[in-house]
Amino acid sequence: MTDTAIPALMLHNSLTRQLEPFQPVEAGQAKVYTCGPTVYNYQHIGNMRAFLFADTLGRTLRFKGYDLTHIINITDVGHLTSDADAGDDKMEKAAASSGQSIWDIARHYTEAFWHDIKRLNITEPAKWSVATDHIDEMLDFAKEIAPKHCYELDSGLYFDTSSVPDYGALARVATEDGESRIAPVDGKKQQSDFAIWRKSSPEENRQMEWDSPWGKGAPGWHLECSVMSMKYLGQQFDIHTGGIDHREIHHPNEIAQNQAKTCSGHSGANIWMHNNFLVDRGGKMSKSAGEFLVLETLVKRGIHPLAYRLMCLQAHYRSELEFTWDNLSAALTRLKRMAAAMEKLRDKADYSENTDISALPEHPHPKIDQALAAFDTAISDDLNTAKALTILDDILGQKRVDAVQRLALIARFDTVFGLDLLALSRITLRITPTEAAITPEDIEAKLVERKAARADKDFARSDVLRDELVAAGVEVMDGDPLGWEWAIAY
Ligand code: AMP
Ligand code: ZN
Repeated sequence: MTDTAIPALMLHNSLTRQLEPFQPVEAGQAKVYTCGPTVYNYQHIGNMRAFLFADTLGRTLRFKGYDLTHIINITDVGHLTSDADAGDDKMEKAAASSGQSIWDIARHYTEAFWHDIKRLNITEPAKWSVATDHIDEMLDFAKEIAPKHCYELDSGLYFDTSSVPDYGALARVATEDGESRIAPVDGKKQQSDFAIWRKSSPEENRQMEWDSPWGKGAPGWHLECSVMSMKYLGQQFDIHTGGIDHREIHHPNEIAQNQAKTCSGHSGANIWMHNNFLVDRGGKMSKSAGEFLVLETLVKRGIHPLAYRLMCLQAHYRSELEFTWDNLSAALTRLKRMAAAMEKLRDKADYSENTDISALPEHPHPKIDQALAAFDTAISDDLNTAKALTILDDILGQKRVDAVQRLALIARFDTVFGLDLLALSRITLRITPTEAAITPEDIEAKLVERKAARADKDFARSDVLRDELVAAGVEVMDGDPLGWEWAIAY
């Protein structure tokens, strides 16, 4: 950029409920920890919103010039059906009901999650940190904090939340109703106290259990994130992310553990960031309610995963986002429009893999400079991706600006959007729904025949062909401005 000052990156810190400038612990470095999936089931598309948000944050940090270290954990032990100390262990329950080993369950759902990560173009973190690989470290951590901060009950070792300063500040438990959601456990000193180690009960037949000074059992769910974030990022690192539900119980409990371990009032991360929920009025974002929406459901309907990524980018991460098929298909239409514009732009720039778009020229067109500055301002404002997308639209429409320069700029934008814009085309976007009654080849063949019939003014034949396509669920889109030509209607 030329004369414009580089905007500071402002991020919303849930601890203060305010925007704060990002000031890394170590100059030039950004260390981020993201609470990952519990691999007892598939991740629904709401869960994937949390990882899209963390990815956008990581990409933005890189765009702003930081060297990113991102850790995402995989929870394969300890998470109960309630985030507090109630219910069954989600992993044990899934294994018992399917008759499979818990390790097989974990492997299957971890791999399914990674497949979705790839399909959504989410950047791989520096490490996927698996909870059960860290049991010894969890035991060491628990032993260290136990004397001053924990007490034992028949059911296990519990953290005394009155032993740390200002417990629950993140959740604002004093002012909101966070605590009321925590299930009572006999003998707990405070309702908010939580399990650090859960003893296996005699009637339980656990597949996963380890010896400990407090009996055979398994770690409490919150322990893993304190242990793994400290191990890989340090006692005080930059940013911790998760869904908004974690602001209530899981993250306040992590903070309490971190304070106990470091004998300080420090929370562990300087900035705690939370994405709001993807909601669905039909209840399709609840795994306990039966059928729920996964990425594969969208793909089966012929919707490219990147349309979902775009749908998330169109909303601010702190706003609730309502899922409807209409919203999703509007995002797909916008993506198709981008694909058509990108195809034209690449043609105009005579673009091939050898075209150098790795950097902007020293003196770019003023519109390029302005757009880059506007983009930086938008994403630096607590990741305002919705605004940043309008700047992309604008530059796509700047027909008089040099095409290679525009491509180079869009390549920079896409390091944040992750929409694969340089390769995006109508063909890559087209997915035939898995359950479609007709193949794309048959559709194309009928369309070619129909075009010939129309050229011969044989409108009766053309109508017959259209009716055949409609009967197979294909919508023929004559004169579609996006050049889409056909779609399978659902
Ligand atoms: P889990 O697998 O339940 O541990 O959740 C993985 C991530 O998804 C966590 O960060 C949750 O806070 C987040 N999450 C859960 N439900 C939603 C939702 N409907 N929308 C957005 N994020 C969610
Ligand atoms: Zn966590």
